[in-house]
Amino acid sequence: MFSGKKVIVLGGAKSGISAAQVLVRLGAEVTLTDITPLHQMPEPERIALQDMNIRLVTGSHPTTLLSGADLIVKNPGISPEIEFLQTARELGIPWISELELAWLISKAEFVAITGTNGKTTTTALTGEILARGSRPVAVGGNIGIPLTGISFGKGPEWLLVVETSSFQLEDCYKLHPRVAIFTNLTPDHLDRHKSMENYLAAKLRLIQNQDSDDYVVVNRDDPILARQSFGRGQKIWYSLKPGQGDCYIEDGWFCWRGERLAPAGDLSLPGEHNLQNALAAIAAAKALRLPAEEIRQGLRGFAGVEHRLEYVGEVRGIKFYNDSKATNPESTSTALHSFAGKVLLLAGGYDKGAEFVELVPLFLEKVKHLFTFGDTGEKIRREAIAGGFMEVSPTLDLADAFNQAVSIASPGDIVLLSPACASWDQYANFEERGKHFKALIKSWREKL
Ligand code: ADP
Repeated sequence: MFSGKKVIVLGGAKSGISAAQVLVRLGAEVTLTDITPLHQMPEPERIALQDMNIRLVTGSHPTTLLSGADLIVKNPGISPEIEFLQTARELGIPWISELELAWLISKAEFVAITGTNGKTTTTALTGEILARGSRPVAVGGNIGIPLTGISFGKGPEWLLVVETSSFQLEDCYKLHPRVAIFTNLTPDHLDRHKSMENYLAAKLRLIQNQDSDDYVVVNRDDPILARQSFGRGQKIWYSLKPGQGDCYIEDGWFCWRGERLAPAGDLSLPGEHNLQNALAAIAAAKALRLPAEEIRQGLRGFAGVEHRLEYVGEVRGIKFYNDSKATNPESTSTALHSFAGKVLLLAGGYDKGAEFVELVPLFLEKVKHLFTFGDTGEKIRREAIAGGFMEVSPTLDLADAFNQAVSIASPGDIVLLSPACASWDQYANFEERGKHFKALIKSWREKL
């Protein structure tokens, strides 16, 4: 299909590099173009690119590259409005996403997850549960593992559990998942999609090729999703409310069409949102005829995803949770709702222009003491005090916030890093921030 074809990979990064590698193996003539000059790229990317048998054009995307090109594989972060793609459109050169390429080069069945929130958790949990069954399973996609790397050469016995974003789905045409999961839909990325209708339309491309042998698993508690019809696949609805749809929670049990599958307590992750993620994963497993015992084992064995309300451990009776992925106030609100009692909260970071006033009522209800840090620290503190929440201390940075928190914590307390802000004021990314938090806990424990 790709042998002898001139293919341009637009945008390097992990997924572009993986796509280029696979295309070379398939006999394509590959050019990779990235806006970042080679010498400014992270070292692993630079080395991978230089070692490959491809033409490399960095620093810009010259339209002259388009001459004679058959296909473009576009990075999802790149806007379709850039000059390079407008010229491609005029020349009739099609483009696809790396997700579509992954589908085209594989015979595996896909279980694909999309939605505004909960994609990564649902993907990881679905993978964990399905791995207990008899078929080989691999997990990838937007979750940080380029899909082309794992889909290439996989036979029909394989199940690939795939996290998909609206930006990838926009450029999919033949993708045809056996099971599609929709977690929820709230306004997001509207700067690029322009309207909720467009955003929903991009998500619905996930099911455009499904037929009556396929399944579409949908959250019935989501007001927007509950109104959609979802194409030709068999619908499976899940809900937190007893007896609603096919998969639901009743009397503290995960249930499937009247059958009690597992106690909800088998899931170690806190919060109602994680119960929803578990229902989605269970429904997908049921669609694929996984026995109840395997589902239970998968639920029990799932430790959560790093940096998402990750339980780090207990020291001197104090429990620590790392929710560094909470880069906006909504995620911190979800985290605070996940705990029954009050927590010691560490928050602050890079200033994206967000407002924190909406969190203040939750501070009053759910926070024993707030420690602010980073560029937004002072803003959060001011807004908290203006809203009547006085239990707040400014700190120098995360290490200082941590030290102050453990100095007043007593057994039974919970210390939660859920910053409500991006990390770029002091860290390369939220992963680095979360790892720093865990390192602080470790060295404090060692000193005790
Ligand atoms: P995504 O991959 O869609 O960003 P994650 O699983 O990484 O989702 O979760 C990111 C954050 O989104 C979590 O820290 C939590 O605050 C929130 N979240 C997770 N699952 C849900 C859900 N089902 N509904 C609403 N919010 C959720």
